Amino acid sequence: MIDDSKNTVSSPSGDPWLLTPGPLTTSLSVKQAMLHDYGSRDASFIDLNARILERLVAIIHGEGSYVSVPLQGSGTFAVEAMIGNFVPADGKLLILINGAYGQRIAKICDYYRRSYRVQESAEDVPVDCAQLDATLGADHDISHVVVVHCETTSGILNPIAEVAQVAARHARSLLIDSMSAFGALPLDAREIEFDAVVASSNKCLEGAPGMGFCVARESALVAAEGNSPSLVLDLYDQWRALQRNRQWRFTPPTHVLLAFDQALNEFEAEGGVAGRGRRYRENCDLLIDGMRALGFKTLLPDELQAPIIITFHMPTNPLFDFAAFYDGLKERGYVIYPGKLTVADSFRMGCIGRLHRRQIQGALDAVAGTLSQFGIERIES
Ligand SMILES: *Cc1c(COP(=O)(O)O)cnc(C)c1O
Repeated sequence: MIDDSKNTVSSPSGDPWLLTPGPLTTSLSVKQAMLHDYGSRDASFIDLNARILERLVAIIHGEGSYVSVPLQGSGTFAVEAMIGNFVPADGKLLILINGAYGQRIAKICDYYRRSYRVQESAEDVPVDCAQLDATLGADHDISHVVVVHCETTSGILNPIAEVAQVAARHARSLLIDSMSAFGALPLDAREIEFDAVVASSNKCLEGAPGMGFCVARESALVAAEGNSPSLVLDLYDQWRALQRNRQWRFTPPTHVLLAFDQALNEFEAEGGVAGRGRRYRENCDLLIDGMRALGFKTLLPDELQAPIIITFHMPTNPLFDFAAFYDGLKERGYVIYPGKLTVADSFRMGCIGRLHRRQIQGALDAVAGTLSQFGIERIES
């Protein structure tokens, strides 16, 4: 296996490093794992599927009571599937919103004509559990609550353990969008009560993009039979098909699965959630310290910052031009992401994917180099 953490200028494939919320940089060995054409009925492919699904359950320590169901598509397909399967037509969903991904869940409910209520806070404010408690106490129609683990819009960490406690106290079912946190931030089903969580192959698990998955409490999935308004997103049906003949219902993304199996090997070799979370935390701290040293300011205070993606205020210096800044970094081998926020003009830099200290340091050097090209030595804003 090539140790791609040693590269600074570009990844082993010659591509720029992706400091984005996804798709993300993958290791060379994950990409190489895709150099095969498997038939969907191939015995080794079937074994590989089973191995992946088992390992996803193990990541949340859900052995015995949780099952995992894979689904073709990007992460949003899995979010939509979770809403459509678990919230029945006569249910009501409380959506805890503090960013674009929470908003998207409300849009899904509009499409599905599911009744819902929102509890919204600004993008730099975590979900308010006291307000949640009051809402659940007052509105007895609410059957389900959904929360976004790390709101990738800003990079804020939501207090899912407390959210889960409140939901459990009121006997409501909790659904979690942990897309940008699963595999890097702890989510332990033995300690946190929830019915379903969704994530995808290409965020913190560092596989290729193209599939999502839901890890669900088996009893909740059984109870969800017949709820899905969509055939392709019917998690219950997909799960039953896999149980029946170990096959996906429709053409499986074989290459994505090959990459995902290898990505999970590398995830385990790194020490699972603890190891991966540690590397991301180190990346995040290094990036924030380095950017602050150059004068940039983070949107979030450190205690609300998840080690996933960091939002920086857009500098007000007239010499600073974001489009030119983006291009300057890209030319130096690093891709960042514009902000998507309403609370502040900003841009974002991710610290997840196959990135190590060297690439973060390289990105900081690229930022300093690009600024000096603008004639800026230090951002003062
Ligand atoms: C990435 C992400 C999604 C899914 O996005 P896709 O572009 O559909 O893969 C959903 N929720 C959160 C919190 C995310 O970070």
